[in-house]
Amino acid sequence: MNENILLIEDEQALQSTLSVRLRGEGYVVETASDGVEGYEKATTRPFDLIILDIMLPYRSGLDVCRDIRQAGLATPILFLTARHQTTDKVIGLKLGADDYVTKPFKAAELVARIEVLLRRVPIRAGQGVHQFGSIRVDLRRVEVTGVSASPLSHGTGWKHDSTRGTLTLGLGL
Ligand code: CA
Repeated sequence: MNENILLIEDEQALQSTLSVRLRGEGYVVETASDGVEGYEKATTRPFDLIILDIMLPYRSGLDVCRDIRQAGLATPILFLTARHQTTDKVIGLKLGADDYVTKPFKAAELVARIEVLLRRVPIRAGQGVHQFGSIRVDLRRVEVTGVSASPLSHGTGWKHDSTRGTLTLGLGL
């Protein structure tokens, strides 16, 4: 499966180097070059993870992170910070970021942290809402809601595998 990553970074060289590397790792990568474009993409398209630079034109990564969380999105956010931005790291984590790497970093370190965050996704609060047509499944509340053309008959059910983070809807479960 190809997870979608949004990379919000204004340094073009770094943006393109990281994009190439992440695509090489099998991820689908979308990019944004400033805080406004980044927020817009983050809140209108589904992503599995967001890589967010702090120093961005128009809106800082901190503002973008805060607004993404206020918009109700729990997508994992990985900050890119500069070495002197210690305060920003702390603020970023308080605003809802999940992790950060300090520039300059090795691409391998970033990839490793991405893998960790993506593995955590199924058990993160806010990531457990799935929509199957008209049926909405909320794993946080262990709740399935929706309308069906025909009433769910006996033997129709759903199975939630918390280890794998999967949920199966079907007959005879
Ligand atoms: Ca920057």
